[in-house]
Amino acid sequence: YSGKKTSQAISDDIAQMIVKDFQSIPVVVQESMTVYDAICHMFLEDVGSLFVVDKNSILSGVLSRKDFLRTSIGNQDLNKMPVHMIMTRMPNITYCFKGDTLIDVAKKLMDRQIDSLPVVEERENGFEVIARITKTNITRAFLSLADDHDL
Ligand code: ADP
Repeated sequence: YSGKKTSQAISDDIAQMIVKDFQSIPVVVQESMTVYDAICHMFLEDVGSLFVVDKNSILSGVLSRKDFLRTSIGNQDLNKMPVHMIMTRMPNITYCFKGDTLIDVAKKLMDRQIDSLPVVEERENGFEVIARITKTNITRAFLSLADDHDL
């Protein structure tokens, strides 16, 4: 036995890859944070997107590098502008749940041409952000599959 599995075993493994096993810690900011502070936060936390929550800790927006670039080349005062003015907001946020498959996530990322999704749990008043899943997590999963199958 060479240790190699059949292609059936590989496709079974892919179908069983779920968000919970590959997700990362989310970086969350308040709606009232200034764009300037949020840009600093993104640098310091070394992430490509920030999730915005309201006073009840419910997901209200997403901020990406492009959102910050767009705002920065305008003539606005970044120190006076709160992030809720520039974020992509609910109900236009694409999200997923911890039990979803990575295939589902990959489809959403490609269809919407985005880099990350908030992993959420439903609450009475909206969605709470519990994690984040990005293209990097998918790449890591891809490599773990290669590793497990001696590719
Ligand atoms: P970047 O700006 O670094 O290219 P994205 O491609 O992820 O990052 O973001 C592109 C646009 O899509 C931005 O305006 C951002 O606010 C929005 N966006 C990012 N992630 C999501 C998401 N999960 N749901 C909805 N919109 C998103």
